[in-house]
Amino acid sequence: MIERRQDLFRVLAIVQGLGGNVLPDWDRVSDRGVTYNARGEPLDDRDLESLVQSDHLERIFMDRISRCPWCRSHALNMREVCVSCKSPRIVAVQLLHHFRCGYVAPEYEFTAESDGRRCPKCHGMLRDRGTDHDAPGPHFTCQSCDSSFQVPEIGAVCLGCGRQTHSDDLQRIIYEDVYGYKLSPLGAAALRAGSLQPKQTEQLTEFDLPLLRRSVFMAFLDDERKRRRRFHSTFNVLLVTTEPPVIDGAAPDERALIETIAEFLTETDKLGRLDECQYLVLLPSVDSKTASALARKLSSDPSSILREWKLQAQVVVGLLDGAPTPEGIAASLRAVLADG
Ligand SMILES: [Zn+2]
Ligand SMILES: [Zn+2]
Ligand SMILES: [Zn+2]
Repeated sequence: MIERRQDLFRVLAIVQGLGGNVLPDWDRVSDRGVTYNARGEPLDDRDLESLVQSDHLERIFMDRISRCPWCRSHALNMREVCVSCKSPRIVAVQLLHHFRCGYVAPEYEFTAESDGRRCPKCHGMLRDRGTDHDAPGPHFTCQSCDSSFQVPEIGAVCLGCGRQTHSDDLQRIIYEDVYGYKLSPLGAAALRAGSLQPKQTEQLTEFDLPLLRRSVFMAFLDDERKRRRRFHSTFNVLLVTTEPPVIDGAAPDERALIETIAEFLTETDKLGRLDECQYLVLLPSVDSKTASALARKLSSDPSSILREWKLQAQVVVGLLDGAPTPEGIAASLRAVLADG
């Protein structure tokens, strides 16, 4: 692929021009196995990943590619192989089980006759499956070494370097996730503002709002989980959802909202973004009673701004335990929102 890294703001604008997301095209000739095209113009996935690091884009999981552990080629041909000699030259055979004598053998050993098959051991007839015989699942035999077995192994041959991978080496196959990318709320805000903020990846917050970028918030959350595991410390998380009021057909500035929410928080609390109009509050060393009280206070605040935005806050810390990644956390919280 042509080396063609671009100005990141321009890449962001291109993604917006595509309707807010860019999906990969499978491409067996390319080194990555996929390319990203904006109406014929190639986008460099390193640019897209840079914009993920700065929270301007979000990944969408598409598929998983397996690569050769020896040469990293994605042209890996996976197939079933013999459990003993690893040859792919195996055939599936149907077994028959004759009830009367208990003989089990491949179907071809039972001679076909006009009204059934004849058992090679007891010379009785097999006429009705289920009554006088059964056909247990298929069985495999290897035409290279004559082994027979019930479950074949998986093996891979690399069309790049020709090396084979099987058995214990299978775990060395390199798996790489393939993503599409979609514009994040911060990305949309940057486009409205006309530029990425300078040194975006070094800034912890979205522009100059008291709102942590999503990946920064998730890193703090991860720290709290580690502290809890190690020191049995306590923390809580609130999910804050809002509905933006529509004033004169335009979406209102969320700055006033963010600043109002921040006024409820202490110095050690952290406010971060989950999604468009959805935020998370991390409350270190705060027990669930105090967290619930804060959620109630936020949800019932009489000030006009929180009412205009129909703000709702709830304690969600318990829901996050099974979700190891930011994507997983976002998915489990979206499921809660869909149910609620
Ligand atoms: Zn074999
Ligand atoms: Zn028999
Ligand atoms: Zn290879």
